[in-house]
Amino acid sequence: MRPKNFPLQCLYVQVWGFAHKMVADNHQLLFAERALLADGWADDVVFAIGADGRIATVERGASAVGAKRLGGPVVPAVADLHSHAFQRAMAGLTAVAGQGDDSFWTWREEMYRLVSLLTPDDVTAIAAKLQIELLKGGFGRVAEFHYLHHGADGRAYAAPAEMSLAVLQAAELSGIGLTMLPVFYAHSDFGGAAPTAGQRRFIHDVDGFLTLLHGLVEPCRSVGARLGLAFHSLRAVTGDEIATIMETVPVHAPVHIHVAEQEREVAASIAHSGRRPVERLYDIAEVDERWCLVHATHVTDAEVAMIVGSGAIAGLCPTTEADLGDGIFPAVDFLGAEGRFGVGTDSHVATSVAGELRLLEYGQRLRDRRRNRMAGRPGASVGRTLFERVLAGGAQAAGVAEAGLSVGAPADLVVLDGRSPYLASVEGDTIIDRWIFGGIGPAVRDVMIGGRWLIEDGRHPKDEEIDRAFAAALARLRA
Ligand SMILES: [Zn+2]
Repeated sequence: MRPKNFPLQCLYVQVWGFAHKMVADNHQLLFAERALLADGWADDVVFAIGADGRIATVERGASAVGAKRLGGPVVPAVADLHSHAFQRAMAGLTAVAGQGDDSFWTWREEMYRLVSLLTPDDVTAIAAKLQIELLKGGFGRVAEFHYLHHGADGRAYAAPAEMSLAVLQAAELSGIGLTMLPVFYAHSDFGGAAPTAGQRRFIHDVDGFLTLLHGLVEPCRSVGARLGLAFHSLRAVTGDEIATIMETVPVHAPVHIHVAEQEREVAASIAHSGRRPVERLYDIAEVDERWCLVHATHVTDAEVAMIVGSGAIAGLCPTTEADLGDGIFPAVDFLGAEGRFGVGTDSHVATSVAGELRLLEYGQRLRDRRRNRMAGRPGASVGRTLFERVLAGGAQAAGVAEAGLSVGAPADLVVLDGRSPYLASVEGDTIIDRWIFGGIGPAVRDVMIGGRWLIEDGRHPKDEEIDRAFAAALARLRA
């Protein structure tokens, strides 16, 4: 059977099956032997993809005739809810021990050194490379927490949004979905302390930030990016500044903040206000479903309840949090309380859905000395539970209304490699478990975002061009 509402005369099937298009309606028909739909796994699924890049119809138990046959199990693309794209350039370069105890704070000095060198062209080259790596890792959208705004001397560029535009340009090259989150960053510590020299490229006053933010509305619209905003951290902003900026923000725009990544940050918050960071944030802001609390690492039971009750997303970045020695989020308790969460790759020491979900689960196992911590209920698959939670949480944090493969949702789908014997020999939720926990190597074969194929058989059409620019940027930054 063909999907309903598409008369046969509209169907154009190119001989040999290379392209199957509904010419009159300009729909693509895709056939998947197995697909993870919004309500679970289904067999023999035909998706009709509209010219608007959305899923027009989904039919189960359908014939493959007239449709492009996909090369493996199909799952929805996940949104990466936290990225600092430029940091991809320093992945693996901070693993030599220093003189004392290496920590987040010593790593940050290395990051500031890189920041002092970056040009807008570097940022485009690095971000485009990263975004293609994220696509190949099963992500379809990235929320860019963008705080590198100004020239090397700390002065605004002639076009104040120059660096933000560099990220938008990268997303145009890669095709990834982008949620742009320009970051307000004003101070070096609690109480409105003056910024340090290493932070000079990040700093705005409120008026300057609002000019930047409003100046990004049209550029984001023109390339299909969503626009939200972020506050760097409670160290970097005051309550008054949050209040003033939030008065101007559209009611649906996502709002992100680094909240409680480091124990030193928790101690400083208590010293300043007598309140822990999450408590402090809820004191000074009306935190709701728009908010994403990145690195809610150090939280008490009471703070967990606050986050859950507000509907905000906990933004977890397991590989970066491990790399930086941040700590372990109480994810088992949070899941048990029906908290909403998603994952981000943050500093990009890893770039795949599987890498983040595996370490999220493993961190809980190592702490608890037990297995299968994030299944949610007996008999459930850990992989499936994690995947569905971060699919929904990532979409919410990225300001996307629909998550998953259903009618009306964006056609953002990932085809896992059906040629892999690891994946071909299993079905249902075990596909997800093998992908995340099986150590089976690159498992993503094809990726479609907004109805466009961006990755086919593991390759992006701009791979070589983007690799060249990335290599040149790295060589310049090392010189
Ligand atoms: Zn971050």
